[in-house]
Amino acid sequence: MKATNMSRKKRLRNILFVCFLICTLLIIRVGIIQFVQGSELQSMAYTQQTLNRKINPKRGTIYDSTGKNILAVSASVETVSVTPSNIRKEDKEKVSRAISDIFNLEYENVFKKVSKNSSIETIVKKVDKEQTDKLREWMNENNIISGINIDEDTKRYYPYATLASNVIGFTGSDNQGLEGIESRYDDILKGSTGKILKITDARGTDLGNEGEDYIAAIDGDDIVLSIDMTIQSIAEKYLEQACIDNVCTDGGNILIANPKTGDILAMAGYPNYDLNNPYKINEEDLEYVWDTLSSKDKSESLQQMWRNKAISDTYEPGSTFKLLTSSAALEEGITDTDNSGEFACTGSINIAGTRIKCWRYYRPHGSQSLRQALMNSCNPVFIGLRTKNRCRKIL
Ligand SMILES: [Zn+2]
Repeated sequence: MKATNMSRKKRLRNILFVCFLICTLLIIRVGIIQFVQGSELQSMAYTQQTLNRKINPKRGTIYDSTGKNILAVSASVETVSVTPSNIRKEDKEKVSRAISDIFNLEYENVFKKVSKNSSIETIVKKVDKEQTDKLREWMNENNIISGINIDEDTKRYYPYATLASNVIGFTGSDNQGLEGIESRYDDILKGSTGKILKITDARGTDLGNEGEDYIAAIDGDDIVLSIDMTIQSIAEKYLEQACIDNVCTDGGNILIANPKTGDILAMAGYPNYDLNNPYKINEEDLEYVWDTLSSKDKSESLQQMWRNKAISDTYEPGSTFKLLTSSAALEEGITDTDNSGEFACTGSINIAGTRIKCWRYYRPHGSQSLRQALMNSCNPVFIGLRTKNRCRKIL
């Protein structure tokens, strides 16, 4: 009798011990979930139970100095995405077929996205409203009311294509400025993104309108450049002609400034490129072998094409300063514009023991007036022009 009592007590103690052990383990596990993995799990649940769709703001417009000519503008387009869990299993093939037909996409790829176990999949970005209207019509006809999202978006458009391309620059697929003014003033132009926040269940299924929160996008500010479109077009036209006529393999630049304010009225660069198609190379030879180039070579050629050489490359001003020397000489009455034979070029001039050559030293310019010396860009004349005496000495 005593023995049975003892064994019952022992069994009871064992059971109690096992229960205690299980309880302790569970408490430790709860502790780990709550305190160690807590914040990570919380954010995972948030991601799973909310559906976050971006609304892109309209990027600011870029105008020329008149404020009338639009150099860059954002047009309204739409972006299509799907919430796979909100599309009924029996509709998935039908939906994929319709989307791939309307947007000219590969059926297999669309079906893969529509069947994916994720909360949102982007199908096609920046398409015209005409196309999305077709999709809306199809959704109406086929009574598909959820799972396909059509959201507002914007697309950058440059009405004058190549005009001032190296100055204006362009934007990337997320409307971010990548080059030129678009990149430099991105903060002003871009605005701030809005969003549609939806509360869903664990599978990503919509919980109706109660859980919807709409934060409107704020559009970007406009920018007015000092560039005048008319002056810019004229400068570009003649720069192109001059580069072609003189076979300038490195291209060229023209800068036109208002002397009273310093405003840049035109900043022309040649060759230029199409801002609406900035990844298409502008050189025929390169275009021909484009597909055979390595990605490094491609990227270097594109960078070269996009660069605004007028501000990023260094150039020794040299002969452009002859204008300052002649203006000063005229203002001081040292010489006049057309005193025929006033100066003489012998191919070089000696300054403190150093012989400085004229660029045409092999066939010196001979006797010249100031106007002729400027036209010839003759170095010895302008070196000698510093004082009246020096000027006479040349003669
Ligand atoms: Zn000379």
